[in-house]
Amino acid sequence: MNNIIEQLYINKNLPDNELKILIEDNKYDPELFEKADSVRREHYGTDVYIRGLIEFTNYCKNNCYYCGIRRDNNNVKRYRLSKEEILSCCSNGYELGFRTFVLQGGEDNFFSDDSICELITGIKTLYPDCAVTLSIGEKSFDTYKAWFDAGADRYLLRHETANTEHYNLLHPGSMSLENRKNCLWNLKKIGYQVGSGFMVGTPYQTTELLIEDLRFLQKLQCDMIGIGPYISHQSTPFNTFKNGDLHTCLKLIAIIRLMFPKALIPATTALGTIDKSGRELGLKAGANVIMPNLSPVNVRKQYELYDNKICTNEEAAECRMCLEKRVISAGYKIVTHIGHAKT
Ligand code: SAM
Repeated sequence: MNNIIEQLYINKNLPDNELKILIEDNKYDPELFEKADSVRREHYGTDVYIRGLIEFTNYCKNNCYYCGIRRDNNNVKRYRLSKEEILSCCSNGYELGFRTFVLQGGEDNFFSDDSICELITGIKTLYPDCAVTLSIGEKSFDTYKAWFDAGADRYLLRHETANTEHYNLLHPGSMSLENRKNCLWNLKKIGYQVGSGFMVGTPYQTTELLIEDLRFLQKLQCDMIGIGPYISHQSTPFNTFKNGDLHTCLKLIAIIRLMFPKALIPATTALGTIDKSGRELGLKAGANVIMPNLSPVNVRKQYELYDNKICTNEEAAECRMCLEKRVISAGYKIVTHIGHAKT
Protein backbone atom coordinates (compact mmCIF):
# COMPACT_ATOMS: atom_id res chain seq x y z
CA MET A 1 0.00 0.00 0.00
CA ASN A 2 1.08 3.54 -0.62
CA ASN A 3 2.98 5.03 2.27
CA ILE A 4 0.82 8.11 2.77
CA ILE A 5 -2.43 6.08 2.87
CA GLU A 6 -0.84 3.46 5.13
CA GLN A 7 0.29 6.23 7.49
CA LEU A 8 -3.18 7.78 7.58
CA TYR A 9 -4.72 4.36 8.22
CA ILE A 10 -2.33 3.41 11.02
CA ASN A 11 -1.99 6.77 12.75
CA LYS A 12 -5.49 8.08 11.93
CA ASN A 13 -3.60 11.23 11.22
CA LEU A 14 -1.18 12.93 8.83
CA PRO A 15 0.93 16.07 9.06
CA ASP A 16 -0.52 19.17 7.34
CA ASN A 17 1.79 18.97 4.32
CA GLU A 18 0.76 15.39 3.57
CA LEU A 19 -2.93 16.12 4.03
CA LYS A 20 -2.51 18.97 1.56
CA ILE A 21 -0.99 16.60 -0.99
CA LEU A 22 -3.77 14.08 -0.44
CA ILE A 23 -6.47 16.71 -0.93
CA GLU A 24 -4.91 18.43 -3.93
CA ASP A 25 -3.25 15.59 -5.83
CA ASN A 26 -5.38 12.83 -7.30
CA LYS A 27 -2.65 10.25 -7.63
CA TYR A 28 -3.46 8.45 -4.36
CA ASP A 29 -7.22 8.35 -4.94
CA PRO A 30 -7.74 4.68 -5.84
CA GLU A 31 -5.92 3.52 -2.71
CA LEU A 32 -7.55 6.19 -0.55
CA PHE A 33 -11.08 5.14 -1.55
CA GLU A 34 -10.30 1.45 -1.30
CA LYS A 35 -8.87 1.80 2.19
CA ALA A 36 -11.74 4.01 3.38
CA ASP A 37 -14.27 1.41 2.17
CA SER A 38 -12.40 -1.43 3.84
CA VAL A 39 -12.32 0.47 7.16
CA ARG A 40 -16.08 1.22 6.94
CA ARG A 41 -16.72 -2.50 6.25
CA GLU A 42 -14.49 -3.50 9.17
CA HIS A 43 -16.70 -1.54 11.60
CA TYR A 44 -20.12 -1.40 9.96
CA GLY A 45 -20.08 -4.19 7.36
CA THR A 46 -22.39 -3.21 4.54
CA ASP A 47 -24.95 -1.60 6.88
CA VAL A 48 -26.34 1.79 5.96
CA TYR A 49 -28.26 3.57 8.71
CA ILE A 50 -31.18 5.74 7.72
CA ARG A 51 -32.41 8.87 9.49
CA GLY A 52 -35.82 10.33 8.81
CA LEU A 53 -35.39 14.04 8.29
CA ILE A 54 -38.33 16.24 9.29
CA GLU A 55 -37.74 19.83 8.19
CA PHE A 56 -40.33 21.31 10.51
CA THR A 57 -39.77 25.05 10.06
CA ASN A 58 -38.08 27.19 7.43
CA TYR A 59 -38.33 30.38 9.47
CA CYS A 60 -34.85 31.54 10.49
CA LYS A 61 -33.59 34.52 12.45
CA ASN A 62 -30.12 34.14 10.97
CA ASN A 63 -28.80 35.57 7.76
CA CYS A 64 -26.00 33.22 6.67
CA TYR A 65 -24.80 34.46 3.28
CA TYR A 66 -24.95 30.99 1.69
CA CYS A 67 -28.30 29.68 2.90
CA GLY A 68 -31.56 29.70 0.95
CA ILE A 69 -33.75 30.04 4.06
CA ARG A 70 -31.80 33.02 5.43
CA ARG A 71 -33.94 35.68 7.08
CA ASP A 72 -33.66 38.23 4.29
CA ASN A 73 -34.69 35.91 1.50
CA ASN A 74 -38.16 37.26 0.79
CA ASN A 75 -38.73 34.82 -2.06
CA VAL A 76 -39.30 31.93 0.34
CA LYS A 77 -42.79 31.02 1.41
CA ARG A 78 -42.34 30.32 5.12
CA TYR A 79 -43.99 27.39 6.91
CA ARG A 80 -44.08 25.61 10.23
CA LEU A 81 -45.35 22.09 10.84
CA SER A 82 -47.72 21.48 13.76
CA LYS A 83 -47.01 18.87 16.41
CA GLU A 84 -49.68 16.66 14.79
CA GLU A 85 -48.03 16.99 11.38
CA ILE A 86 -44.62 16.13 12.85
CA LEU A 87 -46.02 13.07 14.64
CA SER A 88 -47.70 11.97 11.45
CA CYS A 89 -44.29 12.16 9.66
CA CYS A 90 -42.85 9.97 12.44
CA SER A 91 -45.69 7.45 12.13
CA ASN A 92 -45.16 7.22 8.38
CA GLY A 93 -41.39 6.94 8.93
CA TYR A 94 -41.71 4.24 11.57
CA GLU A 95 -43.74 2.10 9.16
CA LEU A 96 -41.00 2.56 6.58
CA GLY A 97 -38.34 1.28 8.97
CA PHE A 98 -36.90 4.52 10.34
CA ARG A 99 -35.65 4.35 13.93
CA THR A 100 -34.17 7.84 14.10
CA PHE A 101 -36.10 11.05 13.57
CA VAL A 102 -34.17 14.24 12.91
CA LEU A 103 -36.01 17.45 13.69
CA GLN A 104 -34.29 20.09 11.63
CA GLY A 105 -35.18 23.71 11.07
CA GLY A 106 -34.11 27.29 10.87
CA GLU A 107 -33.56 29.11 14.16
CA ASP A 108 -37.21 29.86 14.77
CA ASN A 109 -38.08 31.50 18.08
CA PHE A 110 -41.77 30.73 17.54
CA PHE A 111 -40.98 27.33 19.07
CA SER A 112 -40.41 27.81 22.80
CA ASP A 113 -38.02 25.53 24.67
CA ASP A 114 -41.07 23.90 26.27
CA SER A 115 -42.77 23.25 22.95
CA ILE A 116 -39.62 21.47 21.70
CA CYS A 117 -39.57 19.45 24.96
CA GLU A 118 -43.18 18.48 24.29
CA LEU A 119 -42.31 17.37 20.79
CA ILE A 120 -39.41 15.28 22.03
CA THR A 121 -41.45 13.58 24.77
CA GLY A 122 -44.33 13.08 22.32
CA ILE A 123 -42.06 11.22 19.90
CA LYS A 124 -40.21 9.26 22.59
CA THR A 125 -43.47 8.15 24.23
CA LEU A 126 -44.88 6.84 20.96
CA TYR A 127 -41.57 5.41 19.69
CA PRO A 128 -39.39 4.47 22.68
CA ASP A 129 -37.18 2.36 20.42
CA CYS A 130 -36.24 5.38 18.31
CA ALA A 131 -33.61 8.10 18.64
CA VAL A 132 -34.51 11.77 18.41
CA THR A 133 -31.94 14.02 16.82
CA LEU A 134 -32.24 17.79 16.93
CA SER A 135 -30.72 20.19 14.43
CA ILE A 136 -32.06 23.61 15.27
CA GLY A 137 -28.99 25.73 15.74
CA GLU A 138 -27.26 27.62 18.51
CA LYS A 139 -28.93 27.66 21.93
CA SER A 140 -27.91 28.16 25.57
CA PHE A 141 -26.49 25.39 27.75
CA ASP A 142 -29.73 25.33 29.76
CA THR A 143 -31.90 24.92 26.68
CA TYR A 144 -29.77 22.08 25.34
CA LYS A 145 -29.88 20.49 28.78
CA ALA A 146 -33.69 20.76 29.01
CA TRP A 147 -34.06 19.09 25.61
CA PHE A 148 -31.61 16.36 26.56
CA ASP A 149 -33.51 15.74 29.80
CA ALA A 150 -36.73 15.56 27.78
CA GLY A 151 -35.21 12.64 25.86
CA ALA A 152 -33.30 14.04 22.86
CA ASP A 153 -30.40 11.73 22.03
CA ARG A 154 -28.38 13.50 19.38
CA TYR A 155 -27.66 16.99 18.09
CA LEU A 156 -26.35 18.05 14.69
CA LEU A 157 -24.58 21.38 14.47
CA ARG A 158 -22.02 21.80 11.73
CA HIS A 159 -19.23 24.16 12.67
CA GLU A 160 -19.29 25.24 8.97
CA THR A 161 -15.66 26.41 9.03
CA ALA A 162 -13.16 26.28 11.89
CA ASN A 163 -11.39 29.51 10.93
CA THR A 164 -12.64 32.79 12.41
CA GLU A 165 -11.79 35.01 9.41
CA HIS A 166 -13.43 32.55 7.04
CA TYR A 167 -16.45 32.21 9.34
CA ASN A 168 -16.85 35.98 9.26
CA LEU A 169 -16.82 35.97 5.45
CA LEU A 170 -19.70 33.48 5.40
CA HIS A 171 -21.83 34.97 8.18
CA PRO A 172 -22.99 38.42 9.30
CA GLY A 173 -21.42 40.09 12.36
CA SER A 174 -24.30 39.00 14.58
CA MET A 175 -22.98 35.42 14.43
CA SER A 176 -19.68 34.11 15.77
CA LEU A 177 -17.59 30.99 15.41
CA GLU A 178 -16.74 31.21 19.09
CA ASN A 179 -20.39 30.79 20.03
CA ARG A 180 -20.90 27.94 17.55
CA LYS A 181 -17.88 26.07 18.92
CA ASN A 182 -19.05 26.72 22.50
CA CYS A 183 -22.41 25.21 21.62
CA LEU A 184 -20.65 22.07 20.37
CA TRP A 185 -18.61 21.75 23.56
CA ASN A 186 -21.77 22.27 25.66
CA LEU A 187 -23.64 19.59 23.72
CA LYS A 188 -20.82 17.15 24.36
CA LYS A 189 -20.64 18.05 28.03
CA ILE A 190 -24.40 17.45 28.44
CA GLY A 191 -24.07 13.97 26.97
CA TYR A 192 -25.58 14.24 23.48
CA GLN A 193 -24.18 12.18 20.64
CA VAL A 194 -22.89 15.13 18.66
CA GLY A 195 -22.61 15.67 14.93
CA SER A 196 -20.61 18.43 13.35
CA GLY A 197 -19.13 19.10 9.93
CA PHE A 198 -18.69 21.64 7.17
CA MET A 199 -19.46 22.49 3.57
CA VAL A 200 -16.87 21.78 0.92
CA GLY A 201 -16.21 24.50 -1.64
CA THR A 202 -17.67 27.47 0.21
CA PRO A 203 -16.56 30.86 -1.09
CA TYR A 204 -12.98 31.74 -0.07
CA GLN A 205 -12.23 28.20 1.17
CA THR A 206 -8.66 26.93 0.66
CA THR A 207 -7.00 23.57 1.28
CA GLU A 208 -5.42 25.05 4.40
CA LEU A 209 -8.88 25.92 5.70
CA LEU A 210 -10.12 22.39 5.02
CA ILE A 211 -7.17 21.09 7.04
CA GLU A 212 -8.18 23.43 9.90
CA ASP A 213 -11.66 21.87 9.71
CA LEU A 214 -10.15 18.40 10.08
CA ARG A 215 -8.00 19.56 13.00
CA PHE A 216 -11.06 20.98 14.75
CA LEU A 217 -12.91 17.68 14.27
CA GLN A 218 -9.93 15.86 15.78
CA LYS A 219 -10.23 18.06 18.86
CA LEU A 220 -13.99 17.74 19.10
CA GLN A 221 -14.10 13.95 18.62
CA CYS A 222 -17.78 13.91 17.73
CA ASP A 223 -19.88 10.88 16.80
CA MET A 224 -21.20 12.09 13.45
CA ILE A 225 -19.47 14.09 10.76
CA GLY A 226 -21.58 15.61 8.02
CA ILE A 227 -19.92 17.17 5.04
CA GLY A 228 -21.44 18.15 1.73
CA PRO A 229 -20.71 20.46 -1.15
CA TYR A 230 -21.62 24.13 -0.93
CA ILE A 231 -24.33 24.71 -3.56
CA SER A 232 -25.26 28.18 -4.65
CA HIS A 233 -28.79 29.52 -4.07
CA GLN A 234 -30.10 32.15 -6.45
CA SER A 235 -31.60 34.38 -3.71
CA THR A 236 -28.51 34.71 -1.51
CA PRO A 237 -25.62 37.20 -1.57
CA PHE A 238 -23.39 34.28 -2.70
CA ASN A 239 -25.42 33.50 -5.82
CA THR A 240 -22.51 34.14 -8.16
CA PHE A 241 -20.09 31.74 -6.46
CA LYS A 242 -19.52 28.32 -7.96
CA ASN A 243 -20.61 25.08 -6.33
CA GLY A 244 -18.29 22.84 -4.35
CA ASP A 245 -16.87 19.96 -6.33
CA LEU A 246 -17.88 16.33 -6.08
CA HIS A 247 -14.42 14.83 -6.17
CA THR A 248 -13.01 16.96 -3.35
CA CYS A 249 -16.05 16.11 -1.29
CA LEU A 250 -15.59 12.38 -1.86
CA LYS A 251 -11.92 12.60 -0.98
CA LEU A 252 -12.73 14.36 2.27
CA ILE A 253 -15.30 11.69 3.15
CA ALA A 254 -12.59 9.05 2.62
CA ILE A 255 -10.00 10.98 4.65
CA ILE A 256 -12.54 11.48 7.45
CA ARG A 257 -13.37 7.74 7.42
CA LEU A 258 -9.68 6.95 7.92
CA MET A 259 -9.21 9.60 10.62
CA PHE A 260 -12.41 8.63 12.46
CA PRO A 261 -12.95 4.92 11.67
CA LYS A 262 -16.17 4.54 13.70
CA ALA A 263 -17.80 7.86 12.83
CA LEU A 264 -21.29 8.10 11.41
CA ILE A 265 -20.84 9.84 8.07
CA PRO A 266 -23.83 10.72 5.91
CA ALA A 267 -23.89 10.66 2.14
CA THR A 268 -25.74 13.96 2.02
CA THR A 269 -28.61 15.23 -0.09
CA ALA A 270 -26.30 18.01 -1.30
CA LEU A 271 -23.94 15.35 -2.65
CA GLY A 272 -26.88 13.78 -4.50
CA THR A 273 -27.79 17.21 -5.84
CA ILE A 274 -24.44 18.04 -7.48
CA ASP A 275 -24.26 14.58 -9.07
CA LYS A 276 -27.06 12.12 -9.72
CA SER A 277 -24.92 9.29 -8.30
CA GLY A 278 -23.41 11.48 -5.58
CA ARG A 279 -24.87 9.59 -2.64
CA GLU A 280 -23.83 6.19 -4.01
CA LEU A 281 -20.33 7.53 -4.57
CA GLY A 282 -20.37 8.96 -1.04
CA LEU A 283 -21.18 5.52 0.36
CA LYS A 284 -18.36 3.97 -1.66
CA ALA A 285 -15.99 6.63 -0.31
CA GLY A 286 -16.73 5.66 3.30
CA ALA A 287 -20.12 7.16 4.23
CA ASN A 288 -22.54 4.91 6.16
CA VAL A 289 -25.66 7.00 6.75
CA ILE A 290 -28.36 8.51 4.56
CA MET A 291 -30.98 10.98 5.64
CA PRO A 292 -34.09 10.77 3.48
CA ASN A 293 -36.80 13.34 3.84
CA LEU A 294 -39.99 12.56 5.77
CA SER A 295 -41.44 16.08 5.54
CA PRO A 296 -44.84 16.44 3.85
CA VAL A 297 -44.36 16.88 0.09
CA ASN A 298 -46.30 20.16 0.04
CA VAL A 299 -43.56 21.95 2.06
CA ARG A 300 -40.47 20.24 0.68
CA LYS A 301 -39.77 22.83 -2.00
CA GLN A 302 -39.84 25.59 0.62
CA TYR A 303 -36.91 24.11 2.55
CA GLU A 304 -34.60 24.90 -0.32
CA LEU A 305 -31.22 25.61 1.23
CA TYR A 306 -29.67 25.60 -2.26
CA ASP A 307 -30.89 25.49 -5.87
CA ASN A 308 -32.25 22.28 -7.42
CA LYS A 309 -32.34 20.31 -4.17
CA ILE A 310 -33.35 16.72 -4.99
CA CYS A 311 -36.24 14.63 -3.65
CA THR A 312 -38.62 17.57 -3.25
CA ASN A 313 -41.49 15.91 -5.14
CA GLU A 314 -41.48 12.39 -3.81
CA GLU A 315 -43.52 10.93 -1.00
CA ALA A 316 -41.44 9.41 1.83
CA ALA A 317 -42.31 5.86 0.73
CA GLU A 318 -41.13 6.56 -2.85
CA CYS A 319 -37.91 8.12 -1.54
CA ARG A 320 -37.32 5.13 0.68
CA MET A 321 -37.74 2.68 -2.22
CA CYS A 322 -35.55 4.70 -4.55
CA LEU A 323 -32.82 4.84 -1.92
CA GLU A 324 -33.07 1.14 -1.25
CA LYS A 325 -32.20 0.50 -4.89
CA ARG A 326 -29.41 3.06 -4.93
CA VAL A 327 -27.82 1.65 -1.78
CA ILE A 328 -27.97 -1.90 -3.12
CA SER A 329 -26.47 -0.78 -6.44
CA ALA A 330 -23.54 0.69 -4.51
CA GLY A 331 -22.96 -2.63 -2.72
CA TYR A 332 -24.51 -1.93 0.71
CA LYS A 333 -27.84 -2.45 2.48
CA ILE A 334 -30.23 -0.28 4.47
CA VAL A 335 -30.91 -1.62 7.96
CA THR A 336 -33.79 -0.99 10.36
CA HIS A 337 -31.71 -0.03 13.35
CA ILE A 338 -31.42 2.83 15.82
CA GLY A 339 -27.94 3.27 14.38
CA HIS A 340 -25.74 4.58 17.19
CA ALA A 341 -22.05 5.00 16.48
CA LYS A 342 -19.94 1.95 17.33
CA THR A 343 -17.80 2.46 20.41
N1 SAM B 1 -30.41 25.98 11.67
C1 SAM B 1 -29.68 24.80 11.93
C2 SAM B 1 -28.20 25.07 11.95
O1 SAM B 1 -27.78 26.20 11.78
O2 SAM B 1 -27.43 24.14 12.21
C3 SAM B 1 -30.01 23.68 10.97
C4 SAM B 1 -30.45 24.03 9.59
S1 SAM B 1 -29.13 24.53 8.51
C5 SAM B 1 -30.06 25.06 7.12
C6 SAM B 1 -28.43 22.96 8.05
C7 SAM B 1 -27.16 22.98 7.23
O3 SAM B 1 -27.45 23.32 5.88
C8 SAM B 1 -26.11 23.97 7.62
O4 SAM B 1 -25.34 23.49 8.68
C9 SAM B 1 -25.30 24.16 6.33
O5 SAM B 1 -24.06 23.47 6.36
C10 SAM B 1 -26.22 23.56 5.24
N2 SAM B 1 -26.43 24.53 4.15
C11 SAM B 1 -27.01 25.72 4.21
N3 SAM B 1 -26.94 26.36 3.01
C12 SAM B 1 -26.28 25.53 2.17
C13 SAM B 1 -25.86 25.63 0.82
N4 SAM B 1 -26.09 26.72 0.10
N5 SAM B 1 -25.19 24.58 0.28
C14 SAM B 1 -24.95 23.46 1.01
N6 SAM B 1 -25.32 23.32 2.30
C15 SAM B 1 -25.98 24.35 2.89
